Amino acid sequence: MAAGSTRYMDGLNAAQREAVETLDGPVLMLAGAGTGKTKALTTRIVHLLTTNRARTNEILAVTFTNKAAREMKERVGRMLGQPAEGMPWLGTFHSICVKLLRRHAELVGLKSNFTILDTDDQIRLLKQLISAAGIDDKRWPARMLANIIDDWKNRALTPAKVPAGDAAAYNHRGTEFYDQYQTRLKELNAVDFGDLLLHCVEIFQNNPDLLAQYHRWFRYILVDEYQDTNVAQYLWLRLLASGHKNICCVGDDDQSIYGWRGAEVGNILRFEKDFSGAKVIRLEQNYRSTKHILSAASGVIRGNEGRLGKELWTEADGGEKVRLIGHWDGEEEARWIGEEIEAMQRGTRGMRQYGLNEMAILVRASHQMRAFEDRFLTIGLPYRVIGGPRFYERLEIRDAMAYFRVVISPEDDLAFERIVNTPKRGLGDKAQQTIQMVARENGVSLVEGARLAVEEGLIKGKGGAALRRLVENIARWGQMTRAVVPNDGDEDAVLEGVQSFEEFQARTEVSHVELAEIILDESGYTSMWQADKNPDSPGRLENLKELVKALENFDNLQGFLEHVSLVMDNDKQDAEQKVSIMTLHAAKGLEFPAVFLPGWEDGLFPSQRSMDESGLKGLEEERRLAYVGITRAEEVCTISFAGNRRVFGQWQSQLPSRFIDELPEEHVEVLTPPGLYGGGYGAAAPSAAEPPVRSTIEERMSNADGYNSPGWKRMQARTAERGYSKPRKSDSQIIDLTATSSFTIGERVFHQKFGYGAIIGMEGDKLEVDFEKAGTKKVVARFVSASDD
Ligand code: ATP
Ligand code: MG
Repeated sequence: MAAGSTRYMDGLNAAQREAVETLDGPVLMLAGAGTGKTKALTTRIVHLLTTNRARTNEILAVTFTNKAAREMKERVGRMLGQPAEGMPWLGTFHSICVKLLRRHAELVGLKSNFTILDTDDQIRLLKQLISAAGIDDKRWPARMLANIIDDWKNRALTPAKVPAGDAAAYNHRGTEFYDQYQTRLKELNAVDFGDLLLHCVEIFQNNPDLLAQYHRWFRYILVDEYQDTNVAQYLWLRLLASGHKNICCVGDDDQSIYGWRGAEVGNILRFEKDFSGAKVIRLEQNYRSTKHILSAASGVIRGNEGRLGKELWTEADGGEKVRLIGHWDGEEEARWIGEEIEAMQRGTRGMRQYGLNEMAILVRASHQMRAFEDRFLTIGLPYRVIGGPRFYERLEIRDAMAYFRVVISPEDDLAFERIVNTPKRGLGDKAQQTIQMVARENGVSLVEGARLAVEEGLIKGKGGAALRRLVENIARWGQMTRAVVPNDGDEDAVLEGVQSFEEFQARTEVSHVELAEIILDESGYTSMWQADKNPDSPGRLENLKELVKALENFDNLQGFLEHVSLVMDNDKQDAEQKVSIMTLHAAKGLEFPAVFLPGWEDGLFPSQRSMDESGLKGLEEERRLAYVGITRAEEVCTISFAGNRRVFGQWQSQLPSRFIDELPEEHVEVLTPPGLYGGGYGAAAPSAAEPPVRSTIEERMSNADGYNSPGWKRMQARTAERGYSKPRKSDSQIIDLTATSSFTIGERVFHQKFGYGAIIGMEGDKLEVDFEKAGTKKVVARFVSASDD
């Protein structure tokens, strides 16, 4: 594009144009969903580049998800007419912070090849500290402590800064453990997610010269989804922008959905105070959705108090009303959505044809995904799950990754602990304690401790020999990988002077992909699953293959591990058309022509927790989430709910979400599921001739607390008025809920009141169960279900 040409601004409205052209000084763009905030922000980047105000590496652009970052890069590239690969500082807070922290790790006492821990590791580490202090982690769970610490980190509080008001946290020992935890992390050369930001903030606060340098480097700062920044992120931004103050933030208070993770809408208000003279720009035209969809969304969000308040309008008249449909249970909901997607794909629903890429299912809770995944696998409907590290959460993947981690950084004690006796090497608790002890006494890592323990003959027999092999292997694999990445993690040093890929390969003995295979084979990990007779073992082996395949997209193991710990979306940019499945949280900023919103039931959406809370804060956040969900849709928005859901193996009857009640009637069309009343769409409502449904749910409803309450009756009356009622199950699908399945002694079960336990005796319809928390009890078999996990 010729310098000076601003054709990329054609089509922007006046307010957007202003946002693009006001380059110097603070700008706050505050506007509702689909008004073109992200578009304006992207155009602003193009404008900065085209007018030579900044070079690609002088722009710091923060987005919320990796997907959003990638899309923004692509959009910039398209507008510039060339790939925007050279935007090194366009990414998520976390990915940018990792980069900064690798450069300056020594300033906070870390080495640049530090490991990034995930929640699992974090909990394991905390458990160790807790049990070393002799605390009963049943009463004081490690997860609770982890949440407290995360919360402090989100609020940018180091152990020394935790306010006195928080002193009672975790039985008055929260701060003490937080301090220990931080010390331990440094010993392990590790950080958790919260640290990525916190360490950066600390570095900038303590090193003004360095900060000044970054002020010169990052000449323009842009932030999307600003309403979801937490205090640590806010401080980070403020530090970086404090020099030139060329910062442009865009956000929407109605879409603030990360309050539970410490995000503060107050940051929007604070912006104007901290950056005085900030230009505030408001956008009101929505370019994304039809009027019905936009009005439905506005109707819901109106229920919130204390909004900054804004009205949206759209030129897109007509189109489908928001479609609402009730189902018997979650499985049926998934089945219907699968069929609906196929029908829409064929264009047989009286609407245009929709490609699979144009359709998305947005769920409130990730456990809802399974029903869809199962169903779609069955009918062969291609789908992708976005936004959850689901694949990488699987046991075998986490084990394999732990192997890679120890090999990359032998200080990674947590990874070593995970694999030392996986596969079984005859190293019991005692041997492992010996390793711990030797490591502690010598102040070395566990790998090194293990090596010493073997050398000194402290671990004998088969276990000792196996451990020796493991330790030797780790060292050998490590040498193989260091041919690719030097120990300090400086990939550039390896690549220096390399002209071609062949030359690069020649410098490395084996590729990291081969190495990964070698590690999994030689460690005995692959054979462990090959020998395993469990029905899910073949699947696990498949996953391991998939993992190795995924490695091909990376230059080395370390890059891959980084990707996994950071990247929350595993949606490869594949060409195949697929339906997207993701959580509402992950859908932020995205748009799809057709959106399905399943599971709109009280207790699921809004979540039980938000309903139990006193005050409206949680509920209002859920409502914003509903607003985010509806506003993702461009043309078709389908909301559904089920009358029954399996929760922890127990059937539960569900009420339609209160948010359904808030949808303005004139923008909603109620669909009748085919099959339910024996007909297709719009089939007549049940007549007197319809056979009575043998409905255990009705029975249970009348017995269960709450269903006789005025609230429930009101709900029933209202839903009947609207033309939909609690759905019933067609006869063929009735499951006899009262039948006791055949239990066996020793089986792990779940009881709604007493939780998990193992069956130790049976007598008639009673079971004797040794509950993990409640001790031994006799319970009626009917109230017990086989445990899912
Ligand atoms: P969200 O709050 O959901 O993140 P947003 O305000 O960031 O939404 P965008 O994603 O930037 O909105 O834009 C929504 C849609 O409207 C996009 O498809 C975009 O291309 C289109 N759009 C934005 N501005 C204009 C415009 N001036 N003319 C035509 N289309 C536009
Ligand atoms: Mg956006």
